[in-house]
Amino acid sequence: MNSSPLHYFDHNATTRVAPEVVEAMLPFLRERWGNPSSVYRFGKQLTAPIEAARAHVAALIHADPQEVLFTSCGTESNNAVLHSALALAPAKRHLVTTAVEHSSVFKHAKWLQQRGYEVTFLPVDADGALNLAMLESSLRPDTALVSVMWANNETGVIFPIAAIAALCHRHGVLMHTDAVQAAGKVALDVRTADVDFLSLSAHKLHAPKGIGALYVKRGAPFQPYLLGGGQEKERRGGTENVPYIIGFGRAAELAHGRLSQKQPRIRALRDRLEETMLRRIPQTQRHGAPEPRLPNTTNLAFAGIEAEALLLRLDQAGICASSGSACTTGSLEPSHVLTAMGIPPELARSSVRFSLGIDTTDADVDYLLERLPPMVSELREASPVWRANGDGQMQ
Ligand code: PLP
Repeated sequence: MNSSPLHYFDHNATTRVAPEVVEAMLPFLRERWGNPSSVYRFGKQLTAPIEAARAHVAALIHADPQEVLFTSCGTESNNAVLHSALALAPAKRHLVTTAVEHSSVFKHAKWLQQRGYEVTFLPVDADGALNLAMLESSLRPDTALVSVMWANNETGVIFPIAAIAALCHRHGVLMHTDAVQAAGKVALDVRTADVDFLSLSAHKLHAPKGIGALYVKRGAPFQPYLLGGGQEKERRGGTENVPYIIGFGRAAELAHGRLSQKQPRIRALRDRLEETMLRRIPQTQRHGAPEPRLPNTTNLAFAGIEAEALLLRLDQAGICASSGSACTTGSLEPSHVLTAMGIPPELARSSVRFSLGIDTTDADVDYLLERLPPMVSELREASPVWRANGDGQMQ
């Protein structure tokens, strides 16, 4: 490990736990470590702080606190919704989702397909956008659920969730959205979006990994995924992870308060980073439509290089970035998201995601802009294919 300071451009992978969140959690690790289901006060007194945390998470998405249940992560929330929709309507064996979902929906849907369920994976265009007419024509009387992410973790592209929910409801189909990447970055309102289910994960919001939430609209049919004790009003078994719930609540409160205040600055930094790289580094392109898009994300392809090689060099310089979603890093397969956008495998493999956050400074962006262009040039120079094409034009 080298000792250079960290320049962190991977906020879509995870975020630093905010000091305020640590402070809020500590009493629940040190002194208030009881079980909230106990009959005695030492345990029962944990109910009030849990409910306060639930209210903060609910406020972030404009839900009623009773519509929010805590889970172990975004992955569990997503798995739970798919499981529930199919378990409650055994005659409905069709699911609609997109070709660009996070693996926690995508792989679960593939698994269901292998077990005889029918799944429509809606394609996206070169900008990463969905065709709503195609979505509508995919709906059938036996469609149990439509699951479409609010914002894509790799490109930041935002889907028109309210329009999709309205369309689903016109056809009597339940609608779920994975809002793990959207929360804390753009305003979320379950009332105006009118979704039936929405997934959240705390570690994208400056709380620890291993705690998530699921919004279940009042009256929406829901079958628990984890059966056990009667926690979360019989909707999710498992002893409550009290310190993490408290941390999530505090993080949601902070995120809610600073959304309008911090995001314009992050957007300006992201735009400067993106525009400068596109201008300074020849044969660089952005993946995904510029808008609507998360204000913190840019996904850039540097033709002629291997993203993994660039990431190693960036790491040497203390810069953290990612090639596709963290869950697929390490695999040589090009990202399924970029592939679905029609990007050729070699260009997908040359793509790097930079995701900024509240901690990103102008100095971080300057540092990256200074280090990255020479690294790309060096890697291109070292590539026989690049050199063989003379002026570096890649085929
Ligand atoms: N959904 C999206 C869009 C994500 O980006 C992630 C994590 O990267 C998840 C779900 C999974 O969340 P968790 O890490 O809490 O399981």
